[in-house]
Amino acid sequence: MNKNKEISVLIIYTGGTIGMVHDPKTGSLVPIDFKHITDHVPVLNSFGIDLQSVSFDPVRDSSNIDPEMWIKMAETIEDNYDRFDGFVVLHGTDTMAYSASALSYMLGNLSKPVIFTGSQLPIGLPRTDGRENLITSIEIAAAQEKGSPYAPEVCIYFDNELTRGNRTTKLSAEHFDAFNSPNYPPLAEVGLHLKYNFDDIRYPGRNTKLKVHKSFDNNVAILKLFPGINRNFVQAVINTKGLKGLIVETFGSGNAPTYKWFLDDLKSFIDRGGIIFNVTQCHGGSVEMGLYETSREMLAAGVIGGKDITSEASVTKLMFLLGTCSLREKVIRCLGISLAGEIS
Ligand code: ASP
Repeated sequence: MNKNKEISVLIIYTGGTIGMVHDPKTGSLVPIDFKHITDHVPVLNSFGIDLQSVSFDPVRDSSNIDPEMWIKMAETIEDNYDRFDGFVVLHGTDTMAYSASALSYMLGNLSKPVIFTGSQLPIGLPRTDGRENLITSIEIAAAQEKGSPYAPEVCIYFDNELTRGNRTTKLSAEHFDAFNSPNYPPLAEVGLHLKYNFDDIRYPGRNTKLKVHKSFDNNVAILKLFPGINRNFVQAVINTKGLKGLIVETFGSGNAPTYKWFLDDLKSFIDRGGIIFNVTQCHGGSVEMGLYETSREMLAAGVIGGKDITSEASVTKLMFLLGTCSLREKVIRCLGISLAGEIS
């Protein structure tokens, strides 16, 4: 650490491919100690930024990330908030969009950059995308003018694009260009220059005292519709013990079958106090309830339209609101509006 450096960034390594190597015994990828990263990116030691790092123990493949880990990430940021200008969270790509969405709700009044990144290839491999992703993420986390950060949001940086975390979705298990923000413009684009789209970045209001919310309720489910869906299956989901919130992943602009049994089952869940959130299966575009007959009846039954929210942002939002708000009406009201720029 160089104490003379003005701008400081904390790297939080949670796990994922970016810090993985091949286990010579099994041949599969296993997480390694964070030291591996600095070994392979020596430029980090002379970067002109006061860099420090903390590593989760144990580190996790992101398939094993859960709300408890989101709380750990938020607490790590909270505990170090006053000491650093920005944060880079190294995370597996598989569930990165879920974690970035969750953190965007948890970190109330955020006024510093929290940049999630990872890689498709382990950082130790010659063709890795991890080196560039890491270096540019640090640059973005440190970017500021007269103490005001350029991107004080929870973001994902990947393959030359900075996107809002809760607008981003993983699209490819193969390409370096693994993420996409279908319904919101990139916050920055990286080529020879790093170009920020300042008009699309959210800046904090007057209250910039960080307030971290740490409660989630995972009594939620996602019901993805498909032609020919069976009533037994729908009922099994809706009658899940303890279920409080259900996301129905609908067709197109929020459409679902108009079978009587289907609408009756949704209504009975709502009558029992359940909350239903209508989110489109389409990669881009928005739910417009009432546009077609196939969504009008759901609207009448009290289903809430998810507009252009992603699947990742919707399920984390439902868990967050159910964990944070004691009043059902408040959960319903907040679902349909933007908490952290996740919905238009
Ligand atoms: N399975 C890994 C993970 O999500 C893949 C990755 O890091 O990209 O943790």
